[in-house]
Amino acid sequence: ADELVKAVHRVMTFADGERRLKVRANADNAEDAARARRFGAQGIGLCRTEHMFLGDRRELVERLILAENKQEQEEALEQLLPLQKGDFVELFEAMDGLPVTVRLIDPPLHEFLPDLTELSVKAAVAEARGEDVSESQRLLHCVQRLHEQNPMLGLRGVRLGLVIPGLFIMQVRAIAEAAAERRAAGGDPHAEIMIPLVGTVQELEIVREEAEQVIREVQQASGTELDIAIGTMIELPRAAVTAGQIAEAAEFFSFGTNDLTQTTWGFSRDDVEASFFSQYLEKGIFGVSPFETIDRDGVGELVRMGAERGRATRPGIKLGVCGEHGGDPDSVHFFHEVGLDYVSCSPFRIPVARLEAGRAATESEGSDFR
Ligand code: PEP
Ligand code: MG
Repeated sequence: ADELVKAVHRVMTFADGERRLKVRANADNAEDAARARRFGAQGIGLCRTEHMFLGDRRELVERLILAENKQEQEEALEQLLPLQKGDFVELFEAMDGLPVTVRLIDPPLHEFLPDLTELSVKAAVAEARGEDVSESQRLLHCVQRLHEQNPMLGLRGVRLGLVIPGLFIMQVRAIAEAAAERRAAGGDPHAEIMIPLVGTVQELEIVREEAEQVIREVQQASGTELDIAIGTMIELPRAAVTAGQIAEAAEFFSFGTNDLTQTTWGFSRDDVEASFFSQYLEKGIFGVSPFETIDRDGVGELVRMGAERGRATRPGIKLGVCGEHGGDPDSVHFFHEVGLDYVSCSPFRIPVARLEAGRAATESEGSDFR
């Protein structure tokens, strides 16, 4: 077994020496980050901050979204800020010296709203009993107003950030303050802020301006120079097509191939178990699910186009991918061909991604490391 471990180690060292793609991890907490580091991750390519709001904190986000006035909003934000800051301090500590791409919150809205049917029933029961229904009616109207038939195509990502006052800014402040705190403690944090689901450069410009303002404020208050890059996900066909414009406001792109596959094919990510999908596989309409292996002709072309157009506007723009495809062998080869800078995948897939990135590099140079 010892010999085997040594052999694997030699192969990995060789692959690492050859590969041009960096390999980062998708991780949302210090434990996953530490695990990713042990597997050889060179940073975090995607921290999904919505995962930090599950459990006890869900209610705070719900309160923020449903706030009736500025005071209620501010109360919720004040409670959220120190919690978020604590999350990032831990994450930056675990990834000291390495880049950490923090994606601002991107949940489908219904995950943070009370259930509409339940609310309707409660309001009806209260009314039948002759109770005071003004509060339950208010809540019901509020949730009705926000209810969506297709939450995955609705108020998500940057849209939520633009519509709910203070939400993104609270997160940016938490990131900046956490970075300043780590710096003051002698650490070496490398925070990057990523905006999800951008479809037009205007969305990014608005968020960027507000974020830069907050980062400046934190820099001044802490007396620390914070070099925080702001970039975006490219996960909508429109974003790939207009990548040349978007790159004006983005220091990096990360291709979100999960959503990009969903929106390019028009297949729901959450329904790939649907019967027609398996029939498609059986009929050979595609060999493998495009959610697993990058569809080179369609989704892949959009990635290529996004990369080329982004580079044309901003030569040297950092390019990565953080969808599930980032850890899929065949897709890793494709991302090497397109010339991305890194792939980001779940911690357990990192060794495979390192190996495949090494193989892709030597294959394209005609070596026999296969
Ligand atoms: C993606 O869409 O590919 C992505 C990485 O974001 P999420 O899976 O969180 O939507
Ligand atoms: Mg996405």
